[in-house]
Amino acid sequence: MTTLEIECPVCAEVLELTEQDRAELTVGDVIVCDSCHAEMEVTHNGPGEDFELELLGILTTCPNCGEEFEVTEDLLAASPVVQGTDGSEVSVVTCPHCRANIELEFEDDDGTAV
Ligand SMILES: [Zn+2]
Ligand SMILES: [Zn+2]
Repeated sequence: MTTLEIECPVCAEVLELTEQDRAELTVGDVIVCDSCHAEMEVTHNGPGEDFELELLGILTTCPNCGEEFEVTEDLLAASPVVQGTDGSEVSVVTCPHCRANIELEFEDDDGTAV
C-alpha cells in the first residue's frame, strides 16, 4: 500500500495518508495537522487527480493583546521569515488588533529536534 506524504504548510510536519485514508476523503473534508492543529481542506481528490489541500487558517492568540486571530496561508506567504534563537525559522505575522509582531513557532509533540 502506498502512503501519501503531505507536508503541513504551517509547521512542515509530514502527515501520512494511506490509500485507504485518501479513499475516504472527499473534496471539502478537513484534515487537521497532528502537530500544530492547522486545518486543511481537501480541494482535489478525484480519480487520476493529484491530492491537494488548502490551508484553512489557524487561530492563534496574540501574546500582546490576548485577542485571537486567524493565520492563513496568504498571511504566512506575506510574512517575513526570520531565524529564531534556536536556529529554526519562524514566521513573523502582525496582529490585526494591536499590530504587534508575533513570531509563530510550532512545538513538536515528540520532542525531536528539527
Ligand atoms: Zn502543522
Ligand atoms: Zn494583538
